[in-house]
Amino acid sequence: MSSAPPPRKRPRTEDQDAEETDNEAAVKRDEELWFEDGTVVLAAGNVEFCVYKGLLADRSPVFKDMFAFPQPRSPPAEPTDLPRVNLPDSAEDIRELLRMLLPDKQSRLYSRKQPSFHALSACVRLGHKYQIDHILDEAMAFIRKAYPKDFPSYLERTVFSEEYAIGAVNLAQLIGACDVLPVAFLDCCTLFGTDLVWGFLRPDGTREMLSPRNLAFAIEAKDRLMRENARRLHRMTKFKPSSKCSGGDGCLAAEVFAMPLDEDDWQAGLSARVLAPWGLSVPDGKICDACVKAWEEQVLAYRQDVWNRLPQILGMVVDDWGTG
Ligand SMILES: [Zn+2]
Repeated sequence: MSSAPPPRKRPRTEDQDAEETDNEAAVKRDEELWFEDGTVVLAAGNVEFCVYKGLLADRSPVFKDMFAFPQPRSPPAEPTDLPRVNLPDSAEDIRELLRMLLPDKQSRLYSRKQPSFHALSACVRLGHKYQIDHILDEAMAFIRKAYPKDFPSYLERTVFSEEYAIGAVNLAQLIGACDVLPVAFLDCCTLFGTDLVWGFLRPDGTREMLSPRNLAFAIEAKDRLMRENARRLHRMTKFKPSSKCSGGDGCLAAEVFAMPLDEDDWQAGLSARVLAPWGLSVPDGKICDACVKAWEEQVLAYRQDVWNRLPQILGMVVDDWGTG
């Protein structure tokens, strides 16, 4: 009789041990969204969130249906007696969604002046996916402030980093918000080639990019925008002095407006930024106030005209464009 333990049927390899240790170490409770009295564990990526089943079911018909099925009660990391739901979303996205849903201080995200694009993006994508309409609507309201469909809002818009226009295109197409597309594509067309092609990194490490179809559209639209800008350069030589200008105070508006464009003007015009403001660089006092005002009004009218034609210039049709 031997007291030696029976040999294992299959010796464990170092790789197996290392893999299991990594998996166990990788799964962790979220520091912010783990409530000890929670009623369900949501697992996303390598993070677990302990939150409230009834609240999620009340806000989201998708979660409600999901919870209607029996859930396993064997979490891999630290055992609890709670049902555990594995979600295919990233932990970063789920965290942003839960911050909006739960009565935590972070739920006042939208009382901030400007939420991050990443938070808005997560709330649009998951608000859409889990059918949480008020989250989707609130997040889209902020996206629309940055990519508006009326000219006055465009003049006062809040701007994200330019590359996030790629994310705005994707969000708009996900939920069918066509009104967001003109300004989002316009901004895409002002990106450098590398940014346009490679997009940007999301907080979860995935890369947000334009689809090949959208990328091709943006490249072709950029060409059309640059041609429109060539029209703008031509227009610059057509400004008229104010009808209230007497010219008697030495106002040089007629001469300045009629001056041929120089090399810097032409180079600045080789751009897709068809709605950019126009500068007027003349020495103080050389153009009278009435002519400066007339020039500003003509520039604004021209920009409004470009705005009205923006979908057409880009090569798309948008219903009710410019109606606010
Ligand atoms: Zn004048």
